[in-house]
Amino acid sequence: MLEKWSSMSFDPDTISLPIGHFIGGELISNEGGIEMRRPSDGKVYAACPVGGVDIVGRAVESARAALTASNWGGVRPRERTKVLQAWADLIEAEAETLARIEALCSTRPVGQLVAGDIAVTAEQIRFFAEFADKESSDLVPTDDASLGMIVSEPYGVVGAITPWNFPISMAGWKLGPALAAGNAVVLKPSEMTPFSSVYMAQLADRAGLPAGLVNVVLGDGPTTGTALTGHPEIAKVSFTGSTRAGSAIMENVARTGVKPMTLELGGKSPQIVFADADLDKAATAIAGSVIFNAGQACVAGTRLIVERSVADRLTAAILERMKAVRPGPTWEEATHYSPIISERQRARVDGIVRAAVAAGGECLTGGHTIDNPGYFYEPTLIANVDQNNPAIIEEIFGPVLTVQTFETEEEALALSSHPVYGLASGLFTSDLSRTIRFARKLEAGTVWVNRYSRSRDHILPTGGYKRSGIGKDLGREAYLANRRTKSVLISL
Ligand code: NAD
Repeated sequence: MLEKWSSMSFDPDTISLPIGHFIGGELISNEGGIEMRRPSDGKVYAACPVGGVDIVGRAVESARAALTASNWGGVRPRERTKVLQAWADLIEAEAETLARIEALCSTRPVGQLVAGDIAVTAEQIRFFAEFADKESSDLVPTDDASLGMIVSEPYGVVGAITPWNFPISMAGWKLGPALAAGNAVVLKPSEMTPFSSVYMAQLADRAGLPAGLVNVVLGDGPTTGTALTGHPEIAKVSFTGSTRAGSAIMENVARTGVKPMTLELGGKSPQIVFADADLDKAATAIAGSVIFNAGQACVAGTRLIVERSVADRLTAAILERMKAVRPGPTWEEATHYSPIISERQRARVDGIVRAAVAAGGECLTGGHTIDNPGYFYEPTLIANVDQNNPAIIEEIFGPVLTVQTFETEEEALALSSHPVYGLASGLFTSDLSRTIRFARKLEAGTVWVNRYSRSRDHILPTGGYKRSGIGKDLGREAYLANRRTKSVLISL
């Protein structure tokens, strides 16, 4: 359990950040780079180094050398479990420092980080650590004169790339299963929020992971990301981010060689509400999904599709919750409503809202930036939108919900389908048969019924249908995605 310290609020000007690439157990500074501003107040606080081919090459070489020297993939699996558990313990023990680094740079409020992101990430690392000695290779049926085996092995060096919206959680999703499965990792976090990943790697080192097993290279997608995904010694790519960047990575990997990829990409998830649902509970879940992290979540349920007879009641309940948010800096304990990551991203959100209104949409609340030094945007609810409205089509990645109505199940299903995305979906109903019909028909990697949130049991995998991705994070699938199989046939 995480200890809560006396006050989680802190002065952002007093925090020192681990600025640099982390390679072979050492922080390597590489001056200059990308100007970084705090989302909560817009103040410049650092410059993110940009690693090129040389830095990425050093990191991959360090990972290779660490695998050879430590025999990480070949030690008793329980040894991997123990070291990874020690890392999870240290992440919890250092929650205060980790939370402060993250709250300073990102959109995650310090209180939510401690109770949510950090606690959950430590648990997920323990969850994956336990797989190390539980998954086995298979003996297969053969004739008496043969022995056939399907042998499971690690890949070697995994290249992982993460987005800015939940930097600690995303680093945990990638590092936990890859390391438990016996690989080394070169991680490139987002250039907007890289320092919590560097600190996590430093903690891995302190916990006893062999130096060089976890390396973090800093920089942007076109320079550092391209060098990483195209490196010939990277045996597998594990990416979370936009569908646009996922396509660019596929292209680069195709151009530079072939390698397996897990891609967790964008979403535009529907939340379908029938008149027989618990409307109060549905309103809390639906509003919460676009208020949480100001809608900057891949699975944010941004398209409300509600049975016409209860649309006014449900919309009123959601509006009430949206209007109650209190924005605040991420370094204050009481803050629940996050800023948008950057001025540019906020302008993008505002641009799509304006385009949605120009196309006939009606803002029932929100539609404006919040007058505050940070990059805040009002929770926004848009009605009168057809299937071609920009607010229905685009992944906005901000606190924007649309509302559409239906009368029949067929209409609800037709509205819920998106031409590009199929990441998650929500269904609110008390009818069991309908639940099963919809769970079968919804084209999404996740269906949540009468809730809109992940469970804290990490066994349920997450990943997209359609262009929301390839492969899964979390669950047994994520562990297996970091192993490859070899068929061995012995003539006796
Ligand atoms: P992004 O795609 O712009 O960037 C993500 C990461 O990819 C960053 O580290 C970036 O530097 C890197 N990158 C960008 N272009 C690259 C390239 N050509 N080659 C290699 N790396 C490259 O995404 P973002 O704006 O940081 O994050 C928001 C997006 O992430 C949203 O689309 C969201 O839905 C998605 N996301 C998906 C999941 C999921 O599980 N499916 C989870 C979180 C976020």
